[in-house]
This record gives sequence, structure tokens and C-alpha cells, in this order.
Amino acid sequence: MMQSCGVALVTGASRGIGRAIAYELGKKGFGVAVNFASDEQGAAETVARLTAEGYRAEPFRADVSSHDDARGLVEAVEKTMGPLEALVLNAGITRDGLLARMSEEDWDRVMDVNLKGVYNVLKWGSRSMMRRKSGKIVAVSSVVALTGNVGQANYCASKAGVIGLIRASARELSRYGITANVVAPGYIDTDMTKALPEAGRERLMAAIPLKRAGVPEDVAKAVAFLVSPDASYITGEVLKVDGGMSIGAQT
Ligand code: NAD
Repeated sequence: MMQSCGVALVTGASRGIGRAIAYELGKKGFGVAVNFASDEQGAAETVARLTAEGYRAEPFRADVSSHDDARGLVEAVEKTMGPLEALVLNAGITRDGLLARMSEEDWDRVMDVNLKGVYNVLKWGSRSMMRRKSGKIVAVSSVVALTGNVGQANYCASKAGVIGLIRASARELSRYGITANVVAPGYIDTDMTKALPEAGRERLMAAIPLKRAGVPEDVAKAVAFLVSPDASYITGEVLKVDGGMSIGAQT
């Protein structure tokens, strides 16, 4: 029988990268709390995929941008499934547009979900980990936090904020034996990137040294490593999963 690793909460796990992370952590022996905001059916599919293989998983509705929802989420997960051992802060959105035309609403919503959402769930989740002096935290940022990207000022700012937030948390939480790291995906094929026009996609492929888009599983495996005992001496790190995209242009 597989050894239990405890409970992992994955935010935004109703599809895409979050779903792949949920599945990978289930395979590694975590009971998985599958968070979703509104896509109940997607979350149910993630849970069904896990339970069909004999893994433990349950869905939890919460909008991570709400401080109260985040608190309720952590309380509900711990009450139903047990103490949190891993926290994966994956939920994120885009509202792209050039800075000069970017509405305040699009700026605020992206910051609220991508940055405040990480703070909200991290705050409540880490309090429980601190009490038990154990836990692993991984946030999903993006390589555009490091490189910038045209039309994504709000998104890049939010994802760069996540790196600062996690590095500060890594310092604060280290005394409790808790690690906090970031994965920074490049271009990953999901519903989020589907909207990109073919010409843009071709330009992107040309800029990726490994000459392929990533798949959600590429990111999920990096997250699974960072929450595993093999990564117990790694904290405050930013692990790029981008096929070399952010190495820089070849001269
Ligand atoms: P996606 O749109 O397919 O999935 C995002 C998930 O977040 C969905 O399950 C959605 O329901 C959930 N979500 C959105 N708002 C939420 C909220 N307020 N509360 C709770 N859940 C919410 O996107 P994806 O491509 O799977 O992206 C997952 C993460 O990876 C995001 O943080 C994204 O910014 C990041 N990322 C993606 C790529 C990429 O190329 N796809 C690259 C770099 C980083």
C-alpha cells in the first residue's frame, strides 16, 4: 500500500495546470483538496479522475480573491480531510491589454486573484502549518514575471509580486521547518493559452529552445518535486519550467 503524504490543497484545480498538479500529487500519495471558484463540473472531473484510481480527493468551492473565502477554504479542508501538509497556490487569470488602454478593473481583478489570492490562502494555510511545524508551499508564477511581456503589465506585475511574497514567506516560515518555493512556467498548452492567434504561437515556438509548448504535466512534476522530501533543503527558489524560453536570445 502507498504511504500517505498527508493532505495537499491545490487552488484552481478544476482544469489545466491545477488539475495536472492535483493528479500528480494524488499519485504521489497526497489526499488532494481540489479548489474551484465556479467550475463545479471541472472540479468534479478532477476529483473523479483521482478517485477512479483509488486516490483520495474532494472538491472545495472558494474564490481565492476573497479573504473570508480563503479562510473558510482552509478550515473546511482541514476539518474534512485533515491537516494541510502541502499548499499549491495555482489559481490565476489573465486580462490582457496594452498598458495605455488597460482598464482599472482589469488591473484590479488580475491583482486580486493572482497576487492577493496567493496572500489570502497562504496566510490561512501557513498558520496551520506553523502550529504543526511542518509543510511545503509552492506558488505558480510565470516566466513573464522575470522577462516582462507586451500586453500583460497587470499579469507580469501580479506574478512578480508572487515571487516577492513567497521569498519573504520562505524567510519567515523557515524557522517552522516550512519551505516555500515558486514554479515559473513558460508557454504551457491549456485553455488559458488557447486564445493566442496562430501567428503569435509560431513566434513563441521559435523562441523556445526545446521547440515545443509545455504540457500541464511538465509543471505538475516540478511541483511534485518541490513538495517531496527530496526538496527539503530548497526554499525561496524560483524553478523555471519553460523549455529554455527565458534563457535569452541567442547571439
Ligand atoms: P486555466 O485558466 O486553465 O486555469 C486556471 C484555474 O484557476 C482554473 O481552474 C480557474 O477556475 C481557477 N481560478 C480562476 N480564478 C479563480 C479564483 N478567483 N478562485 C479560485 N480559482 C480560480 O489556466 P492554467 O493555464 O492552467 O494556469 C494555471 C496557473 O499557471 C495560473 O496561475 C497561470 O497564471 C499560471 N501560468 C500558466 C501558463 C500557461 O502557459 N498556461 C504560463 C505561466 C503561468
